[in-house]
Amino acid sequence: METRFDAIVIGAGPSGSAAAYNLAKAGFNVLMIERGRRPGAKNMFGGRVYKAPVEKAFDDLDKAPIHRWVVKERISVVYDEEALTIEYDGRGRHSFTTYLTDLSSWMADKAVSAGAKLITEVVVDRLLVEDGWVKGIISGDERLYSDVVIDCEGVNRLVLEKSGFVEPLEPDNVALGFKEVLKLSKDDINKFFGLEDDEGLAWVFMGEYTEGIPGGGFLYTNRDSVSLGLVIYLGYAAKDLKSHVYDLMERVRLSRIFNKYFRDARVMEYSAHMIPADIKSFRPKRLVYNGLVIAGDAGGFLLNLGYTYRGVDLAAYTGYLAANTISKVSGEYSQESLSIYEDEIEKSFVGRDLKKFSGVHTLYENRRLFREYPILAINVMRRIYNLEFESTRFRDAFNQSRKGLVGLTTILKDLWGVYRNL
Ligand SMILES: Cc1cc2nc3c(=O)[nH]c(=O)nc-3n(C[C@H](O)[C@H](O)[C@H](O)COP(=O)(O)OP(=O)(O)OC[C@H]3O[C@@H](n4cnc5c(N)ncnc54)[C@H](O)[C@@H]3O)c2cc1C
Repeated sequence: METRFDAIVIGAGPSGSAAAYNLAKAGFNVLMIERGRRPGAKNMFGGRVYKAPVEKAFDDLDKAPIHRWVVKERISVVYDEEALTIEYDGRGRHSFTTYLTDLSSWMADKAVSAGAKLITEVVVDRLLVEDGWVKGIISGDERLYSDVVIDCEGVNRLVLEKSGFVEPLEPDNVALGFKEVLKLSKDDINKFFGLEDDEGLAWVFMGEYTEGIPGGGFLYTNRDSVSLGLVIYLGYAAKDLKSHVYDLMERVRLSRIFNKYFRDARVMEYSAHMIPADIKSFRPKRLVYNGLVIAGDAGGFLLNLGYTYRGVDLAAYTGYLAANTISKVSGEYSQESLSIYEDEIEKSFVGRDLKKFSGVHTLYENRRLFREYPILAINVMRRIYNLEFESTRFRDAFNQSRKGLVGLTTILKDLWGVYRNL
């Protein structure tokens, strides 16, 4: 086997394939190394991908394994088996649902068709660093050389850690996501959620399912299945979680809100994965070093806004920017030359969004959002809607519901926090 390449890409997730695809298109001799049996085999996500950034990184997105276009958005707070839900019923085609395994395979196939080489079931152990330059990768006894390495290994980023480029992850900095894929017929999905054939629903919820631990849940409709999952912040869970995470998941599926959809559904798949919680502390000090560029989750390019989650599109887009930078500086891969990549990121929607929402994680640290406010919301609804004879004013329902639960000044302070950070 060849042992020298123009570029080596670690990982065949969305960021790795975007980098490999765009480099191969530009005529580079690229090797992409994936530890899974096939690209996507080790990947996990909730279920929705925003189209525009992915379309920049890959041609022919209309041929990708798209399940449904998300037209309905739901946000619910849940307490005592009751939910208060806001629904947006839109018409746009801005994001779609898919299986990440299939989408990753499609992306990797694009890279291979463009000329990139792909090897699977190979784990990169470390970067090959000589005299302050990354010269390639080490896998077992094998050394492979390249002019530049693009690290797209995802959130665990053990290669970067073992090679001394980032610190180990702390439990306080990460959340754990777990998900079930439940089999439902296309017709049932359309009937249950009020959708047409290619229309999809993205539903996020928070409240009792996480036992007051910061986090929340998600439901995405695929073509003929539903992805149902929870995310909990590990630092808090380690201290306060009473149940096993599998039981939490079971409780969601069997709850009054969701059981009506899943009574007869078969669990097709179960998976769990880590997610960075506080992006600021997760991000590596630099995204470029001599001979090295970092893209995707490994670089901390994730946006969790509570009402939506973006990672795949940011991964594909940063992989694309990494490839563009490498093409631009062709042959001159010092940290200084490669810093164009950092500038491009800052100027792009990725840099702007990460800056704009850099305080969002502080909201998750406010546990009232996950404990007191769901109780308050449901109790207000009960007081104004569950009537016998006399109707209740909204302000009375609100004041009676918050008594002994949360003070007015605290509510105003928390609202200000939401306003400032979202
Ligand atoms: C619970 C959960 C829900 C999510 N929901 C959404 C969502 O709804 N929408 C969204 O856009 N994003 C979502 N995300 C985030 C999204 O999955 C990631 O942002 C995206 O997959 C990042 O792509 P990537 O290419 O950077 O990394 P990954 O997709 O993680 O790919 C990295 C690849 O590198 C390989 N690899 C790792 N180490 C090595 C090694 N040493 N040697 C060789 N190969 C290696 C892995 O096997 C993997 O294939 C979610 C994530 C989680 C955990």
